[in-house]
Amino acid sequence: MPQFLSTTDADFEQRFSAVLAAKREDSPDVDDVVSGIIADVRARGDVAVLELTAKFDRMQIDADQIRLSDAEIDAEIAKVSDEEQHALELAAERIRAYHTRQMPSDEMWTDPDGATLGWRWTPVSAAGLYVPGGLASYPSSVLMNAVPAKVAGVERLAMVVPTPDGIINPLVMMAARVAGVDEVYRIGGAQAVAALAYGTETIAPVDKITGPGNAFVAAAKRRVFGKVGIDMIAGPSEILVIADGDNDADWIALDLMSQAEHDESAQSLLITTDAAFGQAVADAVTVRLETLERREIAGASWRDFGAIITVRDLDEAARLCDRIAPEHLELCVADPEALSDKITHAGAIFLGQWTPEAIGDYVGGPNHVLPTARSARFSSGLSVLDFLKRTTLAKMSPEALRAIGPAAEVLATSESLEAHGLSVTARLRKLNG
Ligand code: NAD
Repeated sequence: MPQFLSTTDADFEQRFSAVLAAKREDSPDVDDVVSGIIADVRARGDVAVLELTAKFDRMQIDADQIRLSDAEIDAEIAKVSDEEQHALELAAERIRAYHTRQMPSDEMWTDPDGATLGWRWTPVSAAGLYVPGGLASYPSSVLMNAVPAKVAGVERLAMVVPTPDGIINPLVMMAARVAGVDEVYRIGGAQAVAALAYGTETIAPVDKITGPGNAFVAAAKRRVFGKVGIDMIAGPSEILVIADGDNDADWIALDLMSQAEHDESAQSLLITTDAAFGQAVADAVTVRLETLERREIAGASWRDFGAIITVRDLDEAARLCDRIAPEHLELCVADPEALSDKITHAGAIFLGQWTPEAIGDYVGGPNHVLPTARSARFSSGLSVLDFLKRTTLAKMSPEALRAIGPAAEVLATSESLEAHGLSVTARLRKLNG
């Protein structure tokens, strides 16, 4: 059973704080292992990658097999059903359309002092996409990472995906093809992240690495950050549903379970204005947990981290929501737009009872790679901006230099940076004859 809380309880603050602070991630000490793997790949390149792949993915291959050939990818794609192909293509199209609208514009203007200023956006040249493949396969993650990269204009997109025991997932290959991935490598874990960051004989290094993975992948991304850019370190999934009593309890139960089934450390929360409805949802979850295929995982997440919170009104719900800063937020209330306007911190908001969060996981259009562990307070989900850089532009006219140069001289002198000041002074002297 999840926890039941009410804002009218005397000990509410204490219990709500405990829900917020629950340590959900099992973080085994993987850092030493990962630093050893990265050093090994840097020193021995493909040889180290091949040894580690044999060890962790139980797969003996040669260096020329690290990259999948087009013929191999074609053979896998041929196994995908028409129905699955159409679903992937629809998803890709919708994700592409959404992310195309995200593209920012370049700007250039001349200010009253005569200085011409601006910025322009350019893509990273090469991106590496990590696709998890240890325990399950995630074709939707391929689309969510690769499509924005291509929309941003990334020229070279290299994907790594472990294929334990040599088993390749056809849908992952189809997603890579549909999204326009340029190179696919059958490696995973920290060794794949190291290979993308530092390069090997077979894999040219990239500039940015994105994509989710297990604790080894996350630790490797942290360690290569600086050599390359990374997107974020994603933790276990979360959903918060805010619902009034005018909902189908079974629908809300399924929405809560859709995140709980990801991971035993996932967190599913319900905030409701109607205590009886909260109980009805809890009962519906119990019924669903009798038959869901992933009932063990979903049940453990719900038992350990789930909570149902009764509030006095929706204003109170909005205030609690901002303290939770959930990764996914569903608003199942009569006027979801009005409630949404009161919320500042959430990774993705799903408005109204016809918008289950799972639509956003696959085909809605917005990205499903989102900030977890309350990081929606200061960060956003994956977007085209993750694959772009902004270069600033400045051009001084003689009048502009005359107008603002003297202030630069003063500041340079106060920082004791003589050459800085003189570089302006020399030009001003010329201008002033
Ligand atoms: P994975 O590809 O992340 O990890 C498999 C690799 O881990 C193996 O290839 C191996 O190299 C390495 N590894 C395993 N045991 C090791 C050990 N003892 N020492 C060194 N390396 C070792 O696949 P996974 O394990 O299935 O994990 C996928 C993760 O990604 C899950 O936690 C899942 O929840 C998460 N995920 C998150 C999202 C998201 O959007 N947040 C999406 C999809 C998946």
